Formats: sequence, structure tokens, C-alpha cells
Amino acid sequence: MTTAIDTLLGDITTVDYDAIVNAANTSLLGGGGVDGAIHRAAGPKLLAECRTLHGCPTGQAKLTGGYDLPARCVIHTPGPIWRGGGHGERELLSSAYRSSLELALEHRCETVAFPLISSGAYGYPKDQAMKVAVDTIEDFLRRHDMTVYLVIFDRTAFSIARKLFADLADDTEDHRLV
Ligand code: ADP
Repeated sequence: MTTAIDTLLGDITTVDYDAIVNAANTSLLGGGGVDGAIHRAAGPKLLAECRTLHGCPTGQAKLTGGYDLPARCVIHTPGPIWRGGGHGERELLSSAYRSSLELALEHRCETVAFPLISSGAYGYPKDQAMKVAVDTIEDFLRRHDMTVYLVIFDRTAFSIARKLFADLADDTEDHRLV
């Protein structure tokens, strides 16, 4: 198995990896943004399973099936709401990535895709959110085998990501899902 991290531009609901991560809210009962897109693509059985989980604290993660999604399962993790950066946001965001990766490992997922957690409605500045994502994923991959993708939805954020990746890795090939 290869150990790698890379970025993709596109819609996370279209990838057929072992797991996709949902930037959920603590109720796990659906919302807007990527959460809404995942629930729409997975169908109503996803919400039915989410109801049995009784929510999830910020920075932790819970796993469900993928239902009508091409991905085998969905890892739901609520990231922190940005409140200026002095309220433990970085640690909570890092914890959301770490908890998701640990859960993916537990469920033998070899390929996992993340959206840029907290960087939409929750207001985390995209460049900082990306740095936390990359640092946390890279740290995890030093100890575990997995292929991890950061799926970025908008082109501006994608250019920030490619710059960040150019500093971190040799593999800076451009990838596009849609
Ligand atoms: P949060 O509440 O954690 O901020 P959002 O869903 O509002 O979650 O946004 C998180 C990130 O997901 C944003 O950068 C947004 O552009 C992105 N996003 C929205 N829809 C999708 C999608 N279908 N695939 C991948 N990323 C998406």
C-alpha cells in the first residue's frame, strides 16, 4: 500500500474511496455545504443511521455506511466554529482530522478523502485550515499506511493548496474530479 497525501479539485460525493469525511455539525442530522451534499448523494438511509448515533462532540468522529455514495463509508466529524483563533480552534480542527484518520484505520480504510473541514459556514480561514489539515495528515502518515486526499471545492482554495503542497511534497501534479 502507498502512503501519500494529495489534493483534488472537485466534489467529494463523487469519489469511490473507502471513506469520505463529512464536515458535520454536532447533531449529525445534516446541514448545508458539504454535509448537505453528502446526505443528498447518500440518500435517506444515511440520515436514518445518523439518528442512531446521538450526535458527536466537536473534534471527534463517528462512522456510518456510504449507502448510495460511491464511497464505502462516511466518517462524520464536527470541526470547530472559527471565533478569532484564540479559542482552541487549531487543536479542535487538528483533532477532527486525527480522530477521522484513526477511525478510518480501525475500519481498514486504505483510501480516505477529506473536505476542508470548518472552512465554509464555520468560517475558519482557508489557508490556515489547509495548513492544519496538511500538518495533521502528514503527521499521521509518518506512523500509518494510507492514501489521503484533500478534496477542495473552489478554485481559489485549490491554488492555495497547490502552493502549500509544493513546499511539502514533490508530487504536485494537478488533479481534477469534475
Ligand atoms: P463547515 O461547516 O465545517 O465550515 P462547510 O460544508 O460549510 O463546512 O464547508 C467546508 C468546506 O467544504 C468548504 O471549503 C466548502 O467549500 C467545501 N465544500 C462544499 N461542498 C463540497 C463538496 N460537495 N465537496 C467538497 N467540498 C465541499
